[in-house]
Amino acid sequence: MSQGPSLGIDIGGTKTHGVLLDASGRVLADQVRPTRKGADGVLSTARAVADDCLREAAVDRSRLAGVGVGVPGQVDHLTGVVRTAVNLGIDHLELGALLSADLGVDVRVDNDVKAAARGAAQALDVQGADLTYVNIGTGVAAATLVAGRVVRGEGNLAGEIGHVPVVPDGERCACGQRGCLEALVGGGRIAARLALIDPPLALPTLVAQATRGRLEAIAELDRIAGGIATAVQLVVLTQGSARVVLGGGVIHATPGLVDHVRRMLELRAAESDFLASLHLPGRVVVLPSGYPVAAIGAALVGRAGSGAARPAPVG
Ligand SMILES: [Zn+2]
Repeated sequence: MSQGPSLGIDIGGTKTHGVLLDASGRVLADQVRPTRKGADGVLSTARAVADDCLREAAVDRSRLAGVGVGVPGQVDHLTGVVRTAVNLGIDHLELGALLSADLGVDVRVDNDVKAAARGAAQALDVQGADLTYVNIGTGVAAATLVAGRVVRGEGNLAGEIGHVPVVPDGERCACGQRGCLEALVGGGRIAARLALIDPPLALPTLVAQATRGRLEAIAELDRIAGGIATAVQLVVLTQGSARVVLGGGVIHATPGLVDHVRRMLELRAAESDFLASLHLPGRVVVLPSGYPVAAIGAALVGRAGSGAARPAPVG
């Protein structure tokens, strides 16, 4: 059993975040770089972030117990191959094998939201529990742990809730359907709607504007909070999630949004004894905005099977 540190790299559309965890789970290094697009760009960024982390902690590469990478797109966690990661400009990339050859260490790769679910369980110190991480960012997706194991489904499809239609005859989604959850609460779609309002609204001040009584802000806040409340219902009713951790750019860019999501769930429960019996608002959890949930989850992916000790929960 290796006692060395493990490295986690979360590759996002705009930035790549790396953390180095020691065997007891302390964060030894925390580094971020802008993501360069395309296969070569993604690889060189990941390698640079890995080197930044090792340099910050003065740890030699040969001491690493494992390296894990979280990346958006269709990821084969067994082979480390990434397909159609549109935001990264990747059509097909043997990320695990290439990065492993670069670093001289085994590299495990998983979908970023699935990695983040592990990071969330870690943060809440509920490994082995039933938990769903819901990412409300540019994309909308969820990942569920049942008894601590990631629910994958055929082709790792489980959790693609962003493309569940929730608004009859709603807006056209990038996937071709109408009224998808992602077309309602995906960050890009929200930004486009807010920009059309005169004068334009922005997420950081949306709740404040709604509180001051601006009607367009109230309507948009209700729309977004209602969509996220539906996502919470969806994962609890389909997966039985005891905890629903909300994360992603939309959540962290909008102070007060999660309170509205809980309020929306309370309003729905007031009309349904069934929903009331599920205690949905109490299942909703948010991690501190600075907590690098996806990078820590990636480090856990990297050490999966190494037998190393798990990191400390968030304080
Ligand atoms: Zn869709």
